[in-house]
Amino acid sequence: MSETVIKLESVRKTYGSGAATTNAVSDISMTVERGTWVAIMGPSGHGKSTLLQLIGGLDRPSAGRIMLDSAEIGSLDATKLAAVRGTKIGFVFQFFNLMPHLTALENVEIALWLGGAAKRKGRALELLEHFGLGDKAHHLPGMLSGGQQQRVAIARALANDPEILLMDEPTGNLDSAAEAELLSLLDGLHQAGKTLLMVTHNPAVAARAQRVLQVKDGRIVADASNGTA
Ligand code: ADP
Ligand code: MG
Repeated sequence: MSETVIKLESVRKTYGSGAATTNAVSDISMTVERGTWVAIMGPSGHGKSTLLQLIGGLDRPSAGRIMLDSAEIGSLDATKLAAVRGTKIGFVFQFFNLMPHLTALENVEIALWLGGAAKRKGRALELLEHFGLGDKAHHLPGMLSGGQQQRVAIARALANDPEILLMDEPTGNLDSAAEAELLSLLDGLHQAGKTLLMVTHNPAVAARAQRVLQVKDGRIVADASNGTA
Protein backbone atom coordinates (compact mmCIF):
# COMPACT_ATOMS: atom_id res chain seq x y z
CA MET A 1 0.00 0.00 0.00
CA SER A 2 1.41 3.36 -0.94
CA GLU A 3 1.66 6.30 1.36
CA THR A 4 2.55 9.87 0.48
CA VAL A 5 5.72 11.10 2.13
CA ILE A 6 6.38 14.30 0.15
CA LYS A 7 3.66 16.59 -1.15
CA LEU A 8 4.11 19.88 -3.01
CA GLU A 9 1.17 22.20 -3.64
CA SER A 10 1.66 24.99 -6.21
CA VAL A 11 5.24 25.60 -5.12
CA ARG A 12 7.07 28.60 -6.52
CA LYS A 13 10.51 30.02 -5.85
CA THR A 14 11.47 33.44 -7.13
CA TYR A 15 14.89 35.01 -6.78
CA GLY A 16 15.53 38.73 -7.13
CA SER A 17 12.92 41.35 -8.00
CA GLY A 18 11.77 43.67 -10.80
CA ALA A 19 13.56 43.16 -14.10
CA ALA A 20 16.05 40.81 -12.40
CA THR A 21 13.39 38.32 -11.26
CA THR A 22 14.14 34.64 -11.84
CA ASN A 23 11.32 32.12 -11.51
CA ALA A 24 13.53 29.20 -10.47
CA VAL A 25 10.53 26.99 -9.61
CA SER A 26 7.33 28.13 -11.31
CA ASP A 27 4.38 26.06 -10.22
CA ILE A 28 5.08 22.57 -9.06
CA SER A 29 2.51 20.27 -7.51
CA MET A 30 3.39 16.63 -6.98
CA THR A 31 3.43 13.80 -4.50
CA VAL A 32 6.05 11.16 -3.82
CA GLU A 33 5.10 7.83 -2.28
CA ARG A 34 7.21 6.40 0.50
CA GLY A 35 9.95 4.10 -0.71
CA THR A 36 10.00 5.44 -4.28
CA TRP A 37 13.22 6.12 -6.15
CA VAL A 38 12.67 9.27 -8.23
CA ALA A 39 15.10 10.68 -10.79
CA ILE A 40 14.87 14.37 -11.69
CA MET A 41 16.22 15.36 -15.09
CA GLY A 42 16.28 18.49 -17.20
CA PRO A 43 18.57 21.14 -18.63
CA SER A 44 20.94 23.19 -16.52
CA GLY A 45 19.51 26.28 -14.85
CA HIS A 46 15.91 25.02 -14.97
CA GLY A 47 15.28 24.67 -11.26
CA LYS A 48 16.29 21.11 -10.31
CA SER A 49 18.64 22.08 -7.47
CA THR A 50 16.21 24.70 -6.21
CA LEU A 51 13.44 22.08 -6.12
CA LEU A 52 15.59 19.69 -4.11
CA GLN A 53 16.67 22.44 -1.72
CA LEU A 54 13.06 23.47 -1.11
CA ILE A 55 12.06 19.87 -0.36
CA GLY A 56 15.05 19.54 1.97
CA GLY A 57 14.15 22.71 3.86
CA LEU A 58 17.44 24.37 2.87
CA ASP A 59 15.43 27.15 1.28
CA ARG A 60 11.84 28.36 1.67
CA PRO A 61 9.27 28.59 -1.13
CA SER A 62 8.06 32.04 -2.23
CA ALA A 63 4.54 30.56 -2.53
CA GLY A 64 2.84 27.22 -2.07
CA ARG A 65 3.25 24.45 0.49
CA ILE A 66 5.64 21.56 0.97
CA MET A 67 4.56 18.78 3.30
CA LEU A 68 6.86 16.07 4.64
CA ASP A 69 4.48 13.53 6.11
CA SER A 70 2.10 15.79 8.02
CA ALA A 71 4.53 18.66 8.67
CA GLU A 72 4.60 21.71 6.44
CA ILE A 73 8.29 22.47 6.34
CA GLY A 74 7.82 26.13 5.42
CA SER A 75 5.96 26.75 8.67
CA LEU A 76 8.40 25.07 11.07
CA ASP A 77 10.46 27.28 13.35
CA ALA A 78 14.24 27.12 13.10
CA THR A 79 14.60 24.51 15.87
CA LYS A 80 11.99 22.13 14.45
CA LEU A 81 13.32 22.60 10.93
CA ALA A 82 16.83 21.77 12.11
CA ALA A 83 15.49 18.61 13.77
CA VAL A 84 13.73 17.50 10.56
CA ARG A 85 16.81 18.28 8.47
CA GLY A 86 19.00 16.52 10.96
CA THR A 87 17.05 13.28 11.26
CA LYS A 88 14.45 12.80 8.53
CA ILE A 89 16.38 14.03 5.51
CA GLY A 90 19.84 13.26 4.18
CA PHE A 91 21.25 15.64 1.57
CA VAL A 92 24.06 14.76 -0.83
CA PHE A 93 25.38 17.87 -2.56
CA GLN A 94 26.73 17.99 -6.07
CA PHE A 95 30.20 19.05 -4.96
CA PHE A 96 30.21 16.97 -1.76
CA ASN A 97 30.45 20.04 0.55
CA LEU A 98 32.71 18.23 3.01
CA MET A 99 34.42 20.37 5.62
CA PRO A 100 37.97 20.53 4.22
CA HIS A 101 39.75 20.88 7.57
CA LEU A 102 37.96 17.92 9.18
CA THR A 103 38.77 14.25 8.61
CA ALA A 104 36.34 11.88 6.90
CA LEU A 105 35.41 10.54 10.35
CA GLU A 106 34.82 14.03 11.77
CA ASN A 107 32.68 15.01 8.78
CA VAL A 108 30.35 12.10 9.54
CA GLU A 109 30.50 12.69 13.32
CA ILE A 110 29.31 16.29 12.86
CA ALA A 111 26.13 15.07 11.18
CA LEU A 112 25.55 12.64 14.06
CA TRP A 113 26.12 15.44 16.54
CA LEU A 114 23.59 17.67 14.72
CA GLY A 115 21.10 14.79 14.77
CA GLY A 116 21.60 14.34 18.52
CA ALA A 117 23.00 10.80 18.28
CA ALA A 118 24.97 9.14 21.07
CA LYS A 119 28.10 6.97 20.52
CA ARG A 120 29.05 9.08 17.55
CA LYS A 121 32.57 7.91 16.93
CA GLY A 122 31.64 4.22 16.74
CA ARG A 123 28.67 4.87 14.48
CA ALA A 124 30.69 7.18 12.19
CA LEU A 125 33.44 4.59 11.84
CA GLU A 126 30.90 1.85 11.18
CA LEU A 127 29.36 3.94 8.36
CA LEU A 128 32.74 4.63 6.78
CA GLU A 129 33.63 0.94 6.99
CA HIS A 130 30.30 0.08 5.40
CA PHE A 131 31.28 2.26 2.44
CA GLY A 132 34.76 0.76 2.23
CA LEU A 133 36.46 3.77 3.78
CA GLY A 134 37.53 2.36 7.14
CA ASP A 135 41.19 2.93 6.32
CA LYS A 136 40.49 6.51 5.19
CA ALA A 137 38.72 7.62 8.36
CA HIS A 138 41.53 9.93 9.44
CA HIS A 139 42.18 11.41 6.00
CA LEU A 140 41.20 14.97 5.12
CA PRO A 141 38.84 15.28 2.11
CA GLY A 142 41.67 16.74 0.01
CA MET A 143 43.55 13.44 0.35
CA LEU A 144 40.63 11.42 -1.05
CA SER A 145 39.55 10.77 -4.65
CA GLY A 146 36.27 12.18 -5.98
CA GLY A 147 34.55 8.82 -5.55
CA GLN A 148 35.82 8.47 -1.99
CA GLN A 149 34.72 12.01 -1.10
CA GLN A 150 31.31 11.26 -2.55
CA ARG A 151 31.05 8.15 -0.37
CA VAL A 152 31.98 10.19 2.71
CA ALA A 153 29.24 12.65 1.72
CA ILE A 154 26.77 9.77 1.42
CA ALA A 155 27.89 8.27 4.74
CA ARG A 156 27.28 11.70 6.27
CA ALA A 157 23.85 11.99 4.64
CA LEU A 158 22.89 8.55 5.99
CA ALA A 159 24.36 9.10 9.45
CA ASN A 160 21.04 9.62 11.22
CA ASP A 161 19.27 6.94 9.17
CA PRO A 162 16.96 9.39 7.34
CA GLU A 163 13.89 8.11 5.50
CA ILE A 164 14.43 10.52 2.64
CA LEU A 165 17.66 10.92 0.73
CA LEU A 166 17.98 13.97 -1.56
CA MET A 167 20.89 13.86 -3.99
CA ASP A 168 22.00 16.56 -6.41
CA GLU A 169 23.88 14.94 -9.29
CA PRO A 170 25.56 12.41 -6.99
CA THR A 171 27.25 10.58 -9.86
CA GLY A 172 28.21 13.71 -11.80
CA ASN A 173 31.82 13.73 -10.64
CA LEU A 174 32.45 9.99 -10.50
CA ASP A 175 34.31 7.68 -12.85
CA SER A 176 32.32 4.74 -14.17
CA ALA A 177 33.54 2.26 -11.53
CA ALA A 178 32.62 4.64 -8.68
CA GLU A 179 29.30 5.37 -10.38
CA ALA A 180 28.45 1.65 -10.61
CA GLU A 181 29.35 1.23 -6.94
CA LEU A 182 27.16 4.18 -5.92
CA LEU A 183 24.24 2.86 -7.97
CA SER A 184 24.36 -0.54 -6.30
CA LEU A 185 24.49 1.23 -2.96
CA LEU A 186 21.37 3.20 -3.93
CA ASP A 187 19.67 -0.03 -5.04
CA GLY A 188 20.29 -1.35 -1.53
CA LEU A 189 18.83 1.79 0.08
CA HIS A 190 15.82 1.59 -2.18
CA GLN A 191 15.30 -2.05 -1.22
CA ALA A 192 15.58 -1.02 2.43
CA GLY A 193 12.56 1.24 1.89
CA LYS A 194 14.20 4.66 1.68
CA THR A 195 12.67 7.39 -0.45
CA LEU A 196 15.29 8.61 -2.94
CA LEU A 197 15.17 11.80 -5.00
CA MET A 198 18.12 12.17 -7.32
CA VAL A 199 18.94 14.88 -9.82
CA THR A 200 20.92 13.43 -12.71
CA HIS A 201 21.89 14.25 -16.28
CA ASN A 202 22.70 10.63 -17.03
CA PRO A 203 19.88 8.60 -18.65
CA ALA A 204 21.58 5.33 -17.63
CA VAL A 205 21.50 6.48 -14.00
CA ALA A 206 17.87 7.64 -14.29
CA ALA A 207 16.97 4.22 -15.73
CA ARG A 208 17.67 2.73 -12.28
CA ALA A 209 14.92 4.86 -10.71
CA GLN A 210 11.23 3.87 -10.63
CA ARG A 211 9.98 7.25 -11.70
CA VAL A 212 11.55 9.98 -13.85
CA LEU A 213 10.51 13.64 -13.67
CA GLN A 214 11.54 16.06 -16.40
CA VAL A 215 11.92 19.66 -15.23
CA LYS A 216 11.93 22.58 -17.66
CA ASP A 217 11.60 26.28 -16.90
CA GLY A 218 10.84 25.48 -13.27
CA ARG A 219 7.94 23.15 -14.11
CA ILE A 220 7.48 19.40 -14.33
CA VAL A 221 6.90 18.74 -18.01
CA ALA A 222 6.95 14.91 -17.88
CA ASP A 223 6.45 12.31 -15.17
CA ALA A 224 7.01 8.70 -16.20
CA SER A 225 7.20 5.30 -14.52
CA ASN A 226 10.11 3.07 -15.39
CA GLY A 227 9.36 -0.53 -16.32
CA THR A 228 7.85 -2.53 -13.49
CA ALA A 229 7.60 0.36 -11.01
P1 ADP B 1 19.51 23.53 -12.06
O1 ADP B 1 19.83 22.81 -10.80
O2 ADP B 1 18.41 22.90 -12.85
O3 ADP B 1 20.73 23.75 -12.90
P2 ADP B 1 18.98 25.80 -10.33
O4 ADP B 1 17.86 25.35 -9.45
O5 ADP B 1 20.33 25.79 -9.74
O6 ADP B 1 18.94 24.98 -11.69
O7 ADP B 1 18.68 27.26 -10.83
C1 ADP B 1 17.44 27.67 -11.40
C2 ADP B 1 17.49 29.16 -11.69
O8 ADP B 1 17.52 29.88 -10.46
C3 ADP B 1 18.73 29.61 -12.46
O9 ADP B 1 18.35 30.65 -13.32
C4 ADP B 1 19.64 30.11 -11.37
O10 ADP B 1 20.53 31.07 -11.88
C5 ADP B 1 18.67 30.70 -10.38
N1 ADP B 1 19.18 30.63 -8.99
C6 ADP B 1 19.44 29.50 -8.29
N2 ADP B 1 19.83 29.79 -7.03
C7 ADP B 1 19.83 31.15 -6.94
C8 ADP B 1 20.13 32.07 -5.90
N3 ADP B 1 20.51 31.65 -4.69
N4 ADP B 1 20.01 33.40 -6.18
C9 ADP B 1 19.59 33.82 -7.39
N5 ADP B 1 19.28 33.00 -8.41
C10 ADP B 1 19.40 31.68 -8.19
MG1 MG C 1 21.67 22.07 -10.18
